[in-house]
Amino acid sequence: MRGLMQDRPLLISSLIEHASHYHPDAEVVSKTCEGPVTRHTYREISERSKKIAQALLALGVKPGDRVATLAWNTHRHLELYFAVSGIGAVLHTVNPRLFPEQIAYILDHAGARVLMFDLTFGDLVTRLRPELTCAETLIAMTDAAHMGAMPEGSLCYESLLAAETGQYAWPEFDEREASSLCYTSGTTGNPKGVLYSHRSTLLHSMMLCQVDGLALSSHDSTLLCVPLFHVNGWGLPYASAMCGAKLVLPGPHLDGKSLYDLAASEQCTFSLGVPTVWFGFLDHIEQTPEARPEALNLKRVVVGGSSAPRSLMRRLEAIGVYGFQAWGMSETSPVATVGNLLPKHADLDAEARAEMQCVGGRPVFGVELRHLGDEGQVVPQDGTTPGELQVRGHWVTSGYYGLGTSSLDAEGWFDTGDIATLDGDGYVRITDRAKDVIKSGGEWISSIDLENAAMAHPDVAEAAVIGLFHPKWQERPLLVVVPRPGARPDPKDLREFLAGHVARWWLPDDIAFVEAIPHTATGKIQKTELRKQFADHVLPETA
Ligand code: AMP
Repeated sequence: MRGLMQDRPLLISSLIEHASHYHPDAEVVSKTCEGPVTRHTYREISERSKKIAQALLALGVKPGDRVATLAWNTHRHLELYFAVSGIGAVLHTVNPRLFPEQIAYILDHAGARVLMFDLTFGDLVTRLRPELTCAETLIAMTDAAHMGAMPEGSLCYESLLAAETGQYAWPEFDEREASSLCYTSGTTGNPKGVLYSHRSTLLHSMMLCQVDGLALSSHDSTLLCVPLFHVNGWGLPYASAMCGAKLVLPGPHLDGKSLYDLAASEQCTFSLGVPTVWFGFLDHIEQTPEARPEALNLKRVVVGGSSAPRSLMRRLEAIGVYGFQAWGMSETSPVATVGNLLPKHADLDAEARAEMQCVGGRPVFGVELRHLGDEGQVVPQDGTTPGELQVRGHWVTSGYYGLGTSSLDAEGWFDTGDIATLDGDGYVRITDRAKDVIKSGGEWISSIDLENAAMAHPDVAEAAVIGLFHPKWQERPLLVVVPRPGARPDPKDLREFLAGHVARWWLPDDIAFVEAIPHTATGKIQKTELRKQFADHVLPETA
């Protein structure tokens, strides 16, 4: 017997409709690429989204068409989140920090019909254009006054919008239709497209608004430091509309000073971003007398995208902010586990709590995890046995766009490529990417654990560990360190310090000091590049 409840599709348009009706005055504050900060209410964002939806329809955009963006976190990009998906087209956010050849590959692979871009990417689009076999319509996301330097033939976002009425009813369609498309960073081989659906996006948003999710609510003012081109801005644009949270968009400026200024002036309570963003934010506050932590109202910060060292959580705590981790990936929408504590953790001492803040969290409802050993067997969830992490759930991908085949095993599990431990409560601790783990004499050394241990040293600004060839042990760790400004860490002292944190046989065979560690376009340490950089490095014992 079927239930008799209404069967309304879970559509992204319903989010902005809800925000417009029930949180009409909640604000979207945006630092624009043109310079000024703009303020809109959700009611205004809703109306502008409808106008740009009408404009796209008038340009011939059809359901299923890909509409690509090369854009920062601004109100216009947010509007496209609702407008493009709302008409049944697919919002294809492209990471502008990738190499131009990769951007061209991604745009062509996705077959984008329209390419929308910020003022700052006008030159990039002009350069890319001859390479592209698609993107016949170009729209510059600016106003008429700034169209001068835009690629020839580009249409103007604000002029298109001004020509429409906003009298538009969002269409209803199947919630399983595609809503957005985001390509993974492609550190091995070509980038691959993850195609989200309206249903997966709405379910993921509901989780973000749960107390045991990210606890986002109408009481929050969210500083969105995650780029809107990285996994749907971790789902915050949708979840903020769902609960009416104020949204603060920093535009192209993710440096410490810009983020501090916005967090203070907009009294942001909540934020999320990759560790490098927080390093910059904290450096600015710690080094600038005018930047006063008391001026902030920041309560909770999610650190994700890479593991977070304890020192980062401590520095956040020192300015009154509770930091915690979430784990996920493009293929999981992305949030799959969140570092919330359980009632039994209420009495943890400061040290044990700091430890909990640095694990990747435990699965939220809708996500299951397990991990496999070398033989493909499920290994125990004892908090110490590492294995290859698998995931399945309502907002986990089943395959990649245009690749035809499913990426799941027979039981519906997706291989994450991460190595992790899981404990009895499901807390996951990522110890490595499978391809980065160091195999020394048949045993695994976690490069992430070593990096975090090194970053606890006061003279270390950033650390990365890679495995180098060793004739006896196959691989041994090399620690690459960026010293803090003005510091000159002593290698012997650093090794001694590490010996207090990790097993002796994990200690790096060598330490190299560099000015900077390469990062990927999404802020992760670029180990492939580092391995190239140190390809000829000979470890002392083997020299
Ligand atoms: P992406 O698809 O670009 O979002 O990258 C996903 C990958 O980032 C994951 O597979 C992990 O390797 C890494 N990652 C994400 N969150 C965390 C975390 N909290 N701790 C450690 N690694 C993480």
